[in-house]
Amino acid sequence: MMLNPEIRRGYIETLIKLVELNSDHEWLQYFINLRTGGSLPGGGAGSLNDWGPSYSETKTDAWYGQLYDIIRILFDNNAMPDQVDQLTKTDDKNQIRVIRCLSCDQSYQHPGIFEEHLAAKYYHDNLVFFAKGHRLTDILKPELSFNSKPVLEYRKWLLEQYAMHHITVYDFVFAGYICPHCNYVDPETKHDIYYIEGTNADGIKFRIERG
Ligand SMILES: [Zn+2]
Repeated sequence: MMLNPEIRRGYIETLIKLVELNSDHEWLQYFINLRTGGSLPGGGAGSLNDWGPSYSETKTDAWYGQLYDIIRILFDNNAMPDQVDQLTKTDDKNQIRVIRCLSCDQSYQHPGIFEEHLAAKYYHDNLVFFAKGHRLTDILKPELSFNSKPVLEYRKWLLEQYAMHHITVYDFVFAGYICPHCNYVDPETKHDIYYIEGTNADGIKFRIERG
């Protein structure tokens, strides 16, 4: 089945911007050539299939990196935006993985993983709207994604829940493997899954619970 040309154009323009914004331009020309009927190269290790963009900030890296993966899947499969759930594993958008220090029994989560959770939830709720409205590139604007009002509110709410559950957003590796709570160096750790139950569109009423 042919994909609606406007939807496809939206994927292409968004991919080009995502690649332009990232720090490695090795594959950029292939994306630009999609405008004039080019195609992306295939291949195994070392090829474009093996590549992902990288961005200098924690937020952009988490958000744009994830958006690139989503749009690539839609583009590569000639899929409509509302097929995104079938093609990606977004069913875990209400789960978060948290690391617990077994020395003090308190928890932490990498800032990138924290933002990836926010991004997964936001794209799940909003990507179809932007793509079908033929303004998909707008979703790259900070004020329409990681700095948008619902995201700012949800981020704030989630950080408050984390505080109540003794979870600190913290880059353990960057900090030299020191636990942020007990200062133990390189403690034994365990992964916990927390489940988030929702309501929103401003009637925020979430609940977080350890699985
Ligand atoms: Zn500890």
